[in-house]
Amino acid sequence: VGLIHLTPDIVSSFPGKISTSPSPGVEDIYGGAESTTVFVGVRVRPISTREMLSPDVKNIIDVAGNTISITSDSGTVHSFSYDHCFNSSDPLDPLYASQEAIYVAVAQPLLEKAYEGYNTCLFAYGQTGSGKSYTMLGDDLYSESELEVPSAAGIIPRFCRDLLNRADYLHSLNPPEGQLPQSRIEVELSYIEIYNERIYDLLASGGGGTDCREALRVREHPKDGPYVEGVARHLVSSYDHLQTWLLLGNKERSIAATGVNEKSSRSHAVFTIKLTHIQVEDVEGEQLESSKVSIINLVDLAGSERVAAAQSQGDRLKEGVCINKSLLTLGKVITALAESEGRRRPFIPYRESVLTYLLKESLGGNSRTAMIATVSPCNIYLEETLSTLRYAQQTRKIVNHNYINEDPTAVIIRSLKEEVERLRLQHLSRNSCQLFYGETLADEEQLDRDGATDKEKDLLERENAINQKEIENNIAIQYKEEEIEALREQLRFQQLQCQQLLTENNRSLEQRLEEAEAQRQQALESLRRLGIATEKETGPVLINLSEDPQLSETLSYKLKNGITSLGRSNCDLTLRGLHTDNVHCSIKNKNGDLQLLPEAGRDTYVNGKLISSPHTLHHNDRLVLAGIYYFRFGNIVKGKDSNRETSKKMDFYFTKEELLKEQERRLQKEAEIAIAASKAEMEQEMCRQRDQLMRDIEEAQSQLISKQQLVCELEGTQSKLETEKQLLEEQILRDRKNNKSLDLSLPSTGFPNSQLLKEVQAVFNESVQEIRKDFTQVYPPMLRFQIKEANEICKKLKNPYEFTLQEVLTESGLEVIVLIKDLQHLMTATLTLDAFQEKLQILRDIVQVACCM
Ligand code: ADP
Ligand code: MG
Repeated sequence: VGLIHLTPDIVSSFPGKISTSPSPGVEDIYGGAESTTVFVGVRVRPISTREMLSPDVKNIIDVAGNTISITSDSGTVHSFSYDHCFNSSDPLDPLYASQEAIYVAVAQPLLEKAYEGYNTCLFAYGQTGSGKSYTMLGDDLYSESELEVPSAAGIIPRFCRDLLNRADYLHSLNPPEGQLPQSRIEVELSYIEIYNERIYDLLASGGGGTDCREALRVREHPKDGPYVEGVARHLVSSYDHLQTWLLLGNKERSIAATGVNEKSSRSHAVFTIKLTHIQVEDVEGEQLESSKVSIINLVDLAGSERVAAAQSQGDRLKEGVCINKSLLTLGKVITALAESEGRRRPFIPYRESVLTYLLKESLGGNSRTAMIATVSPCNIYLEETLSTLRYAQQTRKIVNHNYINEDPTAVIIRSLKEEVERLRLQHLSRNSCQLFYGETLADEEQLDRDGATDKEKDLLERENAINQKEIENNIAIQYKEEEIEALREQLRFQQLQCQQLLTENNRSLEQRLEEAEAQRQQALESLRRLGIATEKETGPVLINLSEDPQLSETLSYKLKNGITSLGRSNCDLTLRGLHTDNVHCSIKNKNGDLQLLPEAGRDTYVNGKLISSPHTLHHNDRLVLAGIYYFRFGNIVKGKDSNRETSKKMDFYFTKEELLKEQERRLQKEAEIAIAASKAEMEQEMCRQRDQLMRDIEEAQSQLISKQQLVCELEGTQSKLETEKQLLEEQILRDRKNNKSLDLSLPSTGFPNSQLLKEVQAVFNESVQEIRKDFTQVYPPMLRFQIKEANEICKKLKNPYEFTLQEVLTESGLEVIVLIKDLQHLMTATLTLDAFQEKLQILRDIVQVACCM
């Protein structure tokens, strides 16, 4: 009877199909679950060609078994041990860990567990460029064969291929149609990107790079845990289809990342597969479906480099410092889980970020989880590598508690059936026991026919007890059967409810597959509408180049015959993120001859050079639009990119460096021209100023001369007037002598025109004063004349000297000096004005002496 009470509890807590985490109210919260720690593997990538060219770069990593050692520049050795260490640093090393080896060691065991009904998760963690995407997705994703994957393919394509191959195999084991048990595998996938704490669907058909993508939200189902609300889930039946979705998702990611700096290194890609294993069984004539569900999360995380920096500045999130809240919170969650070892139900800040909320079950919950930490072998990334390795150490301490996600109805019915069977067997054994006792009784009765009342009594009691037990057993069986009936009823009801609620369940598998195929075609079509080739194209194409090698060369834009316009909107090729609304440039294809037609005022560069007139394009030419869109022009012949090796070198970095160098060269040239122009302008200005100065001096000199003339004239007038005055005075004296009686009314002047004379005298004085003032400002008074005088004296005395005046510019302004030239020896010396005055005096003396002789 006790058992009867146990089962309804489970039944009443059963909301849908899957039993996942145990009810938190149950004391033994992890009862019945399998506890496992997170499997941690570390992978070392090879040194890149770029790094190899740098003389400062060296390999500092050594891998021995499951231990990785790093030697810092100071010689300190840091060693860490993990579940597995993969050394992929040297492709020529016989122990080189290939993509296949990593898949087999890390992901294949997860696939096994997924088929058993466990949730699984694998995430790659490491700094940008350390090989996360290479490990998760790999290079060269596209495969023609469903059985073979390219050797560079990563975990996701390998995992998916094996998953679907195994589904095919299980389907092949089914008995002929109509016979039970039948099993069916359903694979649904979704692919999202988390950027800036927002979730974007990479597989929303018809998305195809629309300008504003709608962000989705995480919700939490009370039993199934967190999920992305409204995310597109595509049912896939073949690896070929799955591959298309994967490629479509990556194209969508590339489109979103173009024109946004660093976006891809800051976004997380979460590839989710829902694997449902449905078994149709016959339970007492009734067809019952039981299912096991596994949610598989394959995560390519954002670059961890900045998290290390942010954490070193304190654990608290700071706006601006925090580049990626999700990654930072992931660190906090891992730390909290690692530190809570042994403690029950500690607080874990899952809800602080979108990523950790969504991966709640994968970290410390119901999931088999593995982590691949990717590191670079180079000394220049020592800090980032150590930080990644410490993270990985902590992650190893996380304990998860796994359950098989089984549909409980079938489980309960099966266990009840077993119980009924057990009771039946018990009942049967009792009956046989009774039969046995009955026989012994008969024997004994014959032996002791008389006086056997005690034995009879005893037997009667035992028989009663057996009967009582039998009644109890029958009641128990009745209960169980009633319970089975109730469960069946509940199952029927729930199936009905599900059918009503979920339209998905209303449709047959075939219908759902048809719909998935229609969605796939729709997604392909919307890409085609954007001008993006969905299969390997032949003919002229523009191939995208991205900073993230994973996204580079994933989009090829077909260049049709005629004119293809490129721009933000209303163009043949829509390129989001361009600043202008109109056509940025066009490409004219005239039967394979390609010509780039730039638009004026829009920056269009070919092989680094700014293009302003039509330009013929050649295979492998690099095209940069507005400094943000990078392309390589390719003329693909029969699906093959000729000169593949050369093409590979023409990557994003090559194009960027070329652009920068070309711009530097252009700027340098422009700067040189500008410098030359400004130099010429300066010289011109100096000439102009010098000419102006000369003109000013000449003008001052001519003014001086005219004023000098005026002085002379005035001096002449003065002497004339003085002579007249003298004559007049003499006249007056003579008149006085002749006429003593004459009234001398003007004794002071004694001159009738004395007023006029005074005025003339005043004007004269004033003019002379003014001229003197002006003159002293430029030349000391009379200097020019004194020079002339000195030269004339020299000529007269036949002295071979000549004097000239010269202005020189000194700190205190324009100064005048005298040059003396020795005409015989052709030598020149300068004289101060005082020295010249002395020389002049000597010359005057000599001339006077000479005249007197
Ligand atoms: P992440 O995703 O961590 O930023 P990627 O996976 O894009 O880094 O790797 C950066 C570059 O290094 C890519 O060009 C990739 O092909 C190369 N690479 C990474 N790991 C390996 C490896 N194990 N073997 C060969 N090449 C690798
Ligand atoms: Mg990457």
